[in-house]
This record gives sequence, structure tokens and C-alpha cells, in this order.
Amino acid sequence: MAKRDFYDVLGVNKNANPQELKSAYRKLAVKYHPDKNPGDKKAEEKFKEASEAYGILSDQEKKQNYDNFGHAAFENGGGRHAGGFGGFSGADFSDIFEDFFGDFGGSRGSRRRSNNRGSDLRYDLSISLEEAYVGKKQDIKFSTTEKCNNCKGSGSKPGYSTDRCTVCGGNGKVRSNQGFFTVQQTCPQCAGSGEEITNPCNDCNGQGNKQASKKISVTIPRGVDDGTRIRLAGKGEAGTKGGASGDLYLFINIHSHELFKRSDENLFFECPISIADAALGTTIEIPTIDGGKAKIKIPDGTQSGKRFRLRGKGMPYMRGSGNGDLYVQVNTEVPISLNKEQKELLEKFREIENEKSNPSIKKFFQKAKSFWKN
Ligand SMILES: [Zn+2]
Ligand SMILES: [Zn+2]
Repeated sequence: MAKRDFYDVLGVNKNANPQELKSAYRKLAVKYHPDKNPGDKKAEEKFKEASEAYGILSDQEKKQNYDNFGHAAFENGGGRHAGGFGGFSGADFSDIFEDFFGDFGGSRGSRRRSNNRGSDLRYDLSISLEEAYVGKKQDIKFSTTEKCNNCKGSGSKPGYSTDRCTVCGGNGKVRSNQGFFTVQQTCPQCAGSGEEITNPCNDCNGQGNKQASKKISVTIPRGVDDGTRIRLAGKGEAGTKGGASGDLYLFINIHSHELFKRSDENLFFECPISIADAALGTTIEIPTIDGGKAKIKIPDGTQSGKRFRLRGKGMPYMRGSGNGDLYVQVNTEVPISLNKEQKELLEKFREIENEKSNPSIKKFFQKAKSFWKN
């Protein structure tokens, strides 16, 4: 027997929005519900057919697959409807059933409210390395949903209470026979709450929550690193029908710094020094991340690329006490654009340079000479 088009089953056109789909399904479900039509096989068939159609069309992804591929999107072998698109192996069978029917074989009558939890939110926050060093408090603004004040989140007009859901009779589940199995699924009408709003709140149209722009103050701990995720429990979107709020996740992004590079708690930068300072030795002043200065003694004969370590001048440990280190690599800069006097002095220096002052140079050319000889 050819399967009827899901849109035809629900009696809606292909452009029907989720509300229209829901109300079309609701009408049919109320009319053909097995509890209302005991022993009526035809009604039961109708109910199953409508539930299946709504199960697909109310799911964004499945609806898209259905719109693109028709019933073939869910068929396999004998034409049993699998939850997802594409074939499935025996091993996935129960997964697919769980996916499609929600609570395959689950306990009857138990109310699950997890569907009512609010969504988690993500907020990306960019800060400077200096701010990460000291930590900070910051106000952030974002749009979210908040519990409706008028109905205190119930979705019903103040003074009115909810009724039992007419589709599931208040137990939050609907059952249907699928081949050998009797399966239970969360009631699509009330999302498992078992309740139905008959006098919807005017402020929120019965949703129990409303779009809102929210401002909260958040504390960024000192030592926070690029990519750190901070969870603010319960600061996400409001739940519906008494469900818990979701969480807000702060994703920290740290701007790259013009001087300092960071690796975990350690900081690093390269500092150019003159060949005279490197040869004769000196003391230099370098910047530190706290905005201050530190001194480094450069001993005479310091070679280019030498690293100096300043203990405790790095970033603070986010967990625990103390700080990482600051590594400063000195690189000698060969002087350019010499004036007459500088040139003369260097010429003179070149004349009196010897093997002792430049040991590596002598060593290298000795090796080169023996290479040429062989
Ligand atoms: Zn309300
Ligand atoms: Zn229900």
C-alpha cells in the first residue's frame, strides 16, 4: 500500500509553519486518540499515521530530508521507517528507535521535563593580555529569553491554571503499535509535561518566557588563557513550564600582544642589544606585563640568542598561586648606517681582532681548510 504524503495526512500545505503543523496534528490526535476510540482499529491507524507524519515534519532535519527525498528518506528494506536518513544496520536498530520514538520501551507514565530546560548560550569575550594578567569584572549584554513576569513562567493567564493535556491525557506520553512493538514517545503536544494551557498569558502568548536583553556582571579570573571557557550556571535562556535555565558559556579570546608572547603561564619576548653591549656587558631595563620594569645584567661576551629567565614575572596560575616566568632572548644587532668615526673605530678594531676574541670564527675556518685539503 502506498504511503500517504505526510502533508496530506496532516491536511496542511508544504509551506505550513511549525504552529500550523502542531495545531493540525493536535486536531487529528484529539480526534483519533486510542483512549477516545477504544477498539477502533481505523482510528488507531489514523492516529499512528498522524503521529508519524508530525514526528517527521516537526523535526527540522527530518523534515528537510522528507522534503528532498520523500518517503524514501526513511525507508529501508521492508519499508519500516527509520529515524534518520540512509540505511541502517541491525546493530543500530535500537538507537534509531530511541531516536525516532523518544523513549522506546521506557517506563509508562513517568514525566520527563528535560525538554523544558532552557538553551545554553555562548558569549565571546575578547580581552587584552594585561587584563588577563590582573583579572577583571566586566558587564556583558546579550539577548536571551527570560521568565515572563506576568504569568511567572506558567504560560497561563494569571488566575487560570493549566488543564490536562488532551492528547496524552496528562501522562506526558503517547503510545502506538509499531509492528511487534508497542512504543511510547514523549507527547508532541505538551512536550511531556502532561499539561495544556487553555488560557494563554497575553504577554508571552503562553510560552512562559519572553525575549529580553540582559546585562550581567562577570568576573574574569586572573591568569585566564586564550580559549578558556567559563560556565555561568543558570545564566542561559529561561526554561519553559518550570524547566531549569540553561547555562551561559563565556569563551575568552586574548588579543595578541605587541611585545609579549605567551605559552601557558610563561611569557617570552626578544630584545635586541648592540654588539658593544653584548661584548662589553651592561645592564638593561626591560618591560614586564604588570606595566613595570625589570633589570637584566648582560655579562660581557653574551652571544646573540642567549635567553635570560626572570622567575615569577610571567602570568599568574589561574588555579593555585604563583606566577610563571618571563624569558627574554637577547639578539645582537649588527650596526648599520655607520658614520665616519664609527667606521674608523671599527676598522681599527678589525685590525686588532684576534683568535682569542673570536674563537668560533677560527675554529670554523680550520675545519673548512681541512675539508678543502681532502
Ligand atoms: Zn506570560
Ligand atoms: Zn500531552
